[in-house]
Amino acid sequence: MSKVRTRFAPSPTGFMHVGNLRTALYEYLVAKSMNGAFVLRIEDTDRERLVDGAVDVIYNTMKVAGLIHDEGPDVGGEYGPYVQSERKDMYLPYAEKLIKEGKAYRCFCTKERLEEVQNSTVGGGYDRHCRDLDQKEIDRLLEAGTPYVIRQKMPITGTTKFVDAVFGEITVDNSELQDQILIKADGYPTYNFANVIDDHTMGITHVVRGSEYLSSTPKYNLLYEAFGWDIPTYIHLPLINGKNDDGTVSKLSKRHGSTGFEDLISEGYLPEAIINYIALLGWCPKDNREIFTLDELCKVFDISGISKSPSVFDYDKLDWFNAEYIRNMSVEEFATIATPYFKEALKDKEIDYVKLASILQQRTVKLTDIPDMIDFFNELPQYDKELFVNKKSKTNLENAPIMLKAVYDKLSALSEYNHDSIHDALIGLATQLEVKNGTVMWPARIAVAGKQVTPGGAIEILEILGKEESLRRMEIGLDKLSN
Ligand code: GLU
Repeated sequence: MSKVRTRFAPSPTGFMHVGNLRTALYEYLVAKSMNGAFVLRIEDTDRERLVDGAVDVIYNTMKVAGLIHDEGPDVGGEYGPYVQSERKDMYLPYAEKLIKEGKAYRCFCTKERLEEVQNSTVGGGYDRHCRDLDQKEIDRLLEAGTPYVIRQKMPITGTTKFVDAVFGEITVDNSELQDQILIKADGYPTYNFANVIDDHTMGITHVVRGSEYLSSTPKYNLLYEAFGWDIPTYIHLPLINGKNDDGTVSKLSKRHGSTGFEDLISEGYLPEAIINYIALLGWCPKDNREIFTLDELCKVFDISGISKSPSVFDYDKLDWFNAEYIRNMSVEEFATIATPYFKEALKDKEIDYVKLASILQQRTVKLTDIPDMIDFFNELPQYDKELFVNKKSKTNLENAPIMLKAVYDKLSALSEYNHDSIHDALIGLATQLEVKNGTVMWPARIAVAGKQVTPGGAIEILEILGKEESLRRMEIGLDKLSN
């Protein structure tokens, strides 16, 4: 068997959404799981739809996602060029070859005529007016410089069948197929024609793409047949839906949430978590395992695990993956990726980021959750003294000042101020005063954090804030409680 070669062939028409990314990922996994090559080809034939900067978004997304291509516009390769606009002179000779063999023809119909035909035929198709022009007429029109397109002669009767690796056998009636345009009046190929010529000349063995291309595949196949080329293995991927508020699902779109890779990253999701989750949108391993690195996916991925039923992009599930990835990092790694968010909330405040990371790691779902969780380290928020009242900890406005003052005195007396010494001081105090640990901890935590919900308990927060700042905040608390 020839070496497996797949290609990701995006059209640079905008941002990289989850569907594109999944296609790229599956192309990559199909190749890598079979020791094949993964090619990047930029399909910019449709000049009107191009968007500035879209190619950079593609490069950047693939890089951040870890989908490294073996061949492509930036890295080269023996099948280049890898950008369709740089291949534009390659296509016409292929179409002319089909004309010579009687499998394609020049169509000289004017736009006006085509419009008229379209309006008068059922289904709005072309009536094949130029399919059987006699040679004399063709020569005359050519000599007169009449503009023309090149169309493929599609079979008029019978059916075209093909097998998709995911959707199985598909049959269409040839009568439904138009004599498709291969070369436009300006001499450039149509998108469908360029796509087939490129896949063949680049030695692509497996074509992975969204199921919206399923209905065009018979047309592609009739081209392969016309040339006598081997048809690649087709792997059409199921739709990706999003959950609507009313419980129904519909095609994933912006109203469901962010759908662009870069948007998801800026929302605080990790590339590894996104990739892991997306791998499971339409593919399932044999053992229902969920957490996979990209390398692990390369080993276990197989085409037979791809499902044809639509999958649902579930933001809660993505949250779960993200939290898992965060939890499974070392605390130092987490501190590194969290640093921009720490800086956002803490500005230049000198705080031990690794200690901060250690109290946040288990509680962080998205990196963007971080600033709100830690802003109190930067500045003690305004708070109401009622926060000192807590049933479970058995604190009220009478005992809170007593407990807080006792904590204050104990901590001021500490010569060594660290996690263990703070811990021993507070626990010792609770024992000494014969109260629950919480009765001591609660007022201390409220005084230093100024809020009820904090990452980490009193001890961790006291440690991270340092002695001086902790005492200063407790003085403010005592003041509040004495009024
Ligand atoms: N350029 C097409 C797109 O971006 C890809 C089609 C294909 O993979 O064959 O949707």
